[in-house]
Amino acid sequence: MTIVVTGGAGFLGHHLVKLLLEKGKSVVVMDSLWTGSQENIAEFASNPNFRHILCDVREPLPDVEDLEQIYHLACPASPDDFERAPIEILETCFLGTRNVLELATVRRARVLLASTSEVYGDPEISVLPESYRGNVNSFGPRSCYDEGKRTLEALAFSYRLKNNVETRIARIFNAYGPYMASKDGRAVPNFIGAAMDGQPVKIYGDGSATRCFQYATDCVEGLYALMNSDYDKPVNIGSDLEMTVFDIANKVTRAVAEKLGQKAPVAVHYLPKRVDDPIRRKPDITLAGKVLGWSPKVSLDDGIAQTVDWFLEKHGGPKSLM
Ligand code: NAD
Repeated sequence: MTIVVTGGAGFLGHHLVKLLLEKGKSVVVMDSLWTGSQENIAEFASNPNFRHILCDVREPLPDVEDLEQIYHLACPASPDDFERAPIEILETCFLGTRNVLELATVRRARVLLASTSEVYGDPEISVLPESYRGNVNSFGPRSCYDEGKRTLEALAFSYRLKNNVETRIARIFNAYGPYMASKDGRAVPNFIGAAMDGQPVKIYGDGSATRCFQYATDCVEGLYALMNSDYDKPVNIGSDLEMTVFDIANKVTRAVAEKLGQKAPVAVHYLPKRVDDPIRRKPDITLAGKVLGWSPKVSLDDGIAQTVDWFLEKHGGPKSLM
């Protein structure tokens, strides 16, 4: 039986494919390498259970024999991409998800869709259970992604209703770890890059906004558990350890300085807050614990240390990330 991972050459895709191959599964990655890279899948190339099909999910997908499950991860996820390519992101969310669900209909495959905490928008409550319906701006710089992912969830519901497709929906909260693209604009790689080069850390807003960061391996274990569970409604997959963006920047820069044997850089360059960027974002992960027996395991200190090590090794030290 074969498992398709769309977006398998991306950051989370890398960790998920690794997990599936370790479990002895046969994996086909469908990825256009838009925000992912060949490098992210290079270590799997010699595995006979692995295949990469270079394709854009906005086009009808190639047929795959013995298809059992599809993890649909293909979609850019960085706020910088929302500004660069909003129409392509909307197309990816709608056309891409529809094409995945069409293939699943034909092959009677189960689909896990990568949704996001962004479906909650800029929330009016502090801890987010799956029952919260969100506070999303449909007409703004993040709406291509936020509304795109809400459309993805609506498509899942509709294909289940009309075509009996088995769907699973993971609302993923901020993840970080090795294999993130260093220049894709997300917080942790930005902080590591700045710290490695002794530059001021860029923070959008005053640094008091909060986020909960989960390590990549925890996240993909959550996706795997959800795919193989009987639960078919949306589930939050995230860490509930809440920190301000300033404190996270501080933690990351200190970890880099420690590795490089330098004094921690303290300078912060504050940029205007991004429009509609949530002030607080913390998942309620009670449901994931209850229906999946899942909760994050890797501590923030360990996860950051492993991520910093990976970036230092990959980029060979200061000045090469910028
Ligand atoms: P990523 O950008 O590293 O990976 C996305 C992958 O999808 C890339 O390999 C890219 O080339 C591919 N892709 C994008 N558009 C495509 C298209 N039209 N056709 C074919 N391939 C395409 O992002 P990620 O962080 O690994 O995120 C993976 C998924 O998880 C995304 O759907 C994202 O919305 C979701 N998610 C991620 C996070 C997070 O913190 N990383 C949080 C919430 C949701």
